[in-house]
Amino acid sequence: MESNKSLPEQLKLFNFAKKEVNLSGLYRISDFPKISEIVNNNRDNVSVNLSFYLKNNKTPCVDGILELDIVLACQRCLDDLSIALKVNFHLAFVKHDQQSEELDSHYEIYLIEEEELATHDLISDEILLSIPMVPMHDYDCIKEINTKEIVKEKSENPFAILKKIKIADGGKE
Ligand SMILES: [Zn+2]
Repeated sequence: MESNKSLPEQLKLFNFAKKEVNLSGLYRISDFPKISEIVNNNRDNVSVNLSFYLKNNKTPCVDGILELDIVLACQRCLDDLSIALKVNFHLAFVKHDQQSEELDSHYEIYLIEEEELATHDLISDEILLSIPMVPMHDYDCIKEINTKEIVKEKSENPFAILKKIKIADGGKE
């Protein structure tokens, strides 16, 4: 599948917001080195949608939706754990703190001096923020593994218990 045809490398914040630009496109997880380091499915897609607009006639904002599946190592059993991530964010790009006081609290404030921002950096940061720190299966995965191992041991060595009983009997006599 083609990736990254429709998204520019740089986001022209004020310019895009003034024109109310709507961007959508596909990336690969491997396009984001920081994400690739963490997940085990680098060839999967990241779907991106960004809608720009001006708030209070001066503050560039973007509403974004990122969708991707990530495969992480479960921190309990170390097996693969697949998570469907849907990241929704509302950013306001301000040049100084005062500017952010006029904004709703649902905006994440992004303090930025420049008029442009690398598309990659924005997407990469938002994905990183939403990856769980300690990913685990939502069931008792360790318990299942232990049960499997016990069953396996028993079937491999059906006389182990019998032997133990005999030895114990022999000791009594
Ligand atoms: Zn697990």
